[in-house]
Amino acid sequence: MIRIVCVVGARPNFVKMAPLVRHIKEEWSDTFETTLVHTGQHYDEKLSQIFFEELRMPQPDVNLGVGSGTAVRQIAEIMQRFEEVLLWKKPDRVVVVGDVNSTLATALAAEKMGIPVAHVEAGLRSFDPAMPEETNRVLTDRVSDLLFATEESAVQNLLNEGFDKERIFWVGNIMIDSLISHSHEAGRSTILNRMSLAPQEYALVTLHRPSNVDTQEGMGRMVALLSEVEKRIRVLFPIHPRTRGRMEEFGLASALGTLRNVTLCEPVGYLDFIRLMRDAKMVLTDSGGIQEETTALGTPCLTLRENTERPATITEGTNLLIGTDPQRVLAAVVDILEGRGKKGRVPTLWDGQAAQRIVRILQARSAGCASHLKEAPLLVRDADFGMRSGKQRMDDVS
Ligand code: UDP
Repeated sequence: MIRIVCVVGARPNFVKMAPLVRHIKEEWSDTFETTLVHTGQHYDEKLSQIFFEELRMPQPDVNLGVGSGTAVRQIAEIMQRFEEVLLWKKPDRVVVVGDVNSTLATALAAEKMGIPVAHVEAGLRSFDPAMPEETNRVLTDRVSDLLFATEESAVQNLLNEGFDKERIFWVGNIMIDSLISHSHEAGRSTILNRMSLAPQEYALVTLHRPSNVDTQEGMGRMVALLSEVEKRIRVLFPIHPRTRGRMEEFGLASALGTLRNVTLCEPVGYLDFIRLMRDAKMVLTDSGGIQEETTALGTPCLTLRENTERPATITEGTNLLIGTDPQRVLAAVVDILEGRGKKGRVPTLWDGQAAQRIVRILQARSAGCASHLKEAPLLVRDADFGMRSGKQRMDDVS
């Protein structure tokens, strides 16, 4: 048995880890013994428990119950508590996803204890040092020995940073595995009726990046921007608890509340959210994952940031990096309303098979499982396909 510990901590982690854990349970339970650890970074029912149910993910075997706090406290607390789990489980490998504090803290703890780490969604770079997730991404990659990339730019970033190409695998986008496998069910969601929304007649908004919500000025700009957008189209804004907290702190909640064409609600469950993205005229967001999901769904997306770590959503998908200037955003909104929204295609390997590729590589590359190494060349060759085709495509480009 290959013993792996899979780590989740925050909303986007659940969406990325679920396909992997489910695939192992359904098809590889004779090969892998999996321990699912929830750090407790997100503990709100709407940001956590509902995802386990809707994504049909087993309940965590261990919950570290770390809760909220400053990044330093959270990371330190997770590392200490995770060390106990690693001493107890003695896994062959730790698998982490994404770029949240839980990702970095558990990867670092594992590396310090000599346990190999696999990072799913490696190599993404916004090149913005002010973005907390950027530090998490860079450092997590540094301590990981298997690097699973979602898009070509991520492979290139890792090669540019000097990582050995034997450790990099372009496996596709596991978040899109979840999207594809739940799209049918999401089609049955009744959220549009519940919110009295008509397809194509609303804009969906999410905001939670510190650059937009952590300062009075940033949050004020967002409210000003929404007050322009709502003059043109109805807006649905499921508010992240963090954003709600900031809004109240800055005294901006009532200003937003008076906008008649803006509907505020709690964060919605995953199936409802897929339905909302699919049927929206456009999505305005600063989320990472939502840029990718809208590209996969073909819904125009305006990213309210100055940079993105997911450039495939721009070069290939429906995403526009628009920044936060209200006039610029409004011009882009009008373009979409007048039928000039960005069209795109689904990037390479965003095909619902990423979890399968990852598991085959994990099996082939796991330390201390000599019985499996016989099969490794074939599996790695097969799994390496993404990497090779990526290299080829990059050579074509250069
Ligand atoms: N999401 C959701 N309900 C919401 C908002 C987002 O289910 O009200 C999902 C979304 O579909 C995506 C994930 O949460 O799968 C993205 O999480 P978030 O934007 O918090 O994180 P980021 O991707 O920015 O790290």
